[in-house]
This record gives sequence, C-alpha cells and structure tokens, in this order.
Amino acid sequence: MSRIQYEELSCPFCDKGRISCGYIPSALTERRSVTATFGSRGVKKVTKEIWLIQSGCSNCNKSQEEVERELKKKGVI
Ligand SMILES: [Zn+2]
Repeated sequence: MSRIQYEELSCPFCDKGRISCGYIPSALTERRSVTATFGSRGVKKVTKEIWLIQSGCSNCNKSQEEVERELKKKGVI
C-alpha cells in the first residue's frame, strides 16, 4: 500500500470547517506496466495525487460525500 499523509482542507462550502483528508502524493502511487497488446486493460494510470476525504464539515454539517464532490468540482482534489 502507498503511504498516506494526512492533511486538512478548508470546507468548500463555508470555508471555516476543517476537512480531514488522507493524501497520497502522485510520486508514491503505484503504476503497473502494461503491454501494448492489451491496451488499457487492467491499467491504473494514475497521474494525479489521490485524496481520501475522511470527514464531513463539522461547521456547516455537509456530509463527507458532498464535500468530496464539491472539492472535485472546484478542482481542489
Ligand atoms: Zn463547511
């Protein structure tokens, strides 16, 4: 497994709450080699870092899911 670092992001809705996240830098993500024959089959082409949202916002009570969706929409994660 990749090493996870822990970070806190500001809530995308209220900007006051703190969102707990696990963060896997792209340099540490695993890449599988792939043969040309099978194309994209089984390939995990990870070029971006991975964020794992671990909590909702305790300030505005948005759920973990809503926070994650909003952060992705805004291009934060
Ligand atoms: Zn909030």
